[in-house]
Amino acid sequence: MRASGGLRFLRRLCRPVAVRALGTMTHVSTQEPVAALTFDDGPDPVWTPRLLEILDAYRARATFFMVGQAAHRHSGLLRRVAASGHAIGNHSWDHPSFPSLSARARRAQIRACERALAPHGQRLFRPPYGHQDIWSRLDALLLGYRVVAWSVWAADWRDRSPSTIAARVMDALRPGSVVAFHDGLVDAVDEQYFDRGATLDAVRLLLNRLAGTFSFVTVPELLRHGRPQQVHWVTHGSADVMAGLRRRGDSPAGGTSAAKSTGP
Ligand SMILES: [Zn+2]
Repeated sequence: MRASGGLRFLRRLCRPVAVRALGTMTHVSTQEPVAALTFDDGPDPVWTPRLLEILDAYRARATFFMVGQAAHRHSGLLRRVAASGHAIGNHSWDHPSFPSLSARARRAQIRACERALAPHGQRLFRPPYGHQDIWSRLDALLLGYRVVAWSVWAADWRDRSPSTIAARVMDALRPGSVVAFHDGLVDAVDEQYFDRGATLDAVRLLLNRLAGTFSFVTVPELLRHGRPQQVHWVTHGSADVMAGLRRRGDSPAGGTSAAKSTGP
């Protein structure tokens, strides 16, 4: 049945309010040459320390969306990331697709990760795989979290060429961008995907080429440079697609654009 004119008007009126309250941040509106690099699925005992050295060499600060289980296992690494001046956000306890969970299980995931990250975690949440529905978004709101997605997707779990990954990010990078990388990979079955060497080399290339022209800051710092830009972000992954991901170490095709294509 078609919505009446009055209902359509009401929806148009409510939409900006709903996006402000329940929108998902993708980037920040600014003219300044600043951007946020974010790293998901760690901390990883092999790759995260090497990444910290690269970031430090270029005086770049980043945001790590950690998996609670890994942070609990590697609590020394969690402390080291925090002591290095980086921000730490919540990426759930063990990385399930949230729309497939009950409300109770979703909130338990966020709270368990929060306990593992304490006292270093900030109220920033990135949904595993970028999967989110209105109910999981509401849970994050109820628990006091800002949901942070991305505007630049490195697709670094897929490519083995550092220059390809770096070029993809450089093409899409704008003032205020939030870039999504991975310093760990929780779901890859194929061994080659656990090797984060290409990601680290891509980050080094990127920082080297942009040294002196771009500053890389944490998400909370980026928010001080401009207003967060938010979208109504709803992305599901079907059980079949998720099973395929685990089998192939590949990405489910759930997104509607390059920036919104989902992956680990
Ligand atoms: Zn992830």
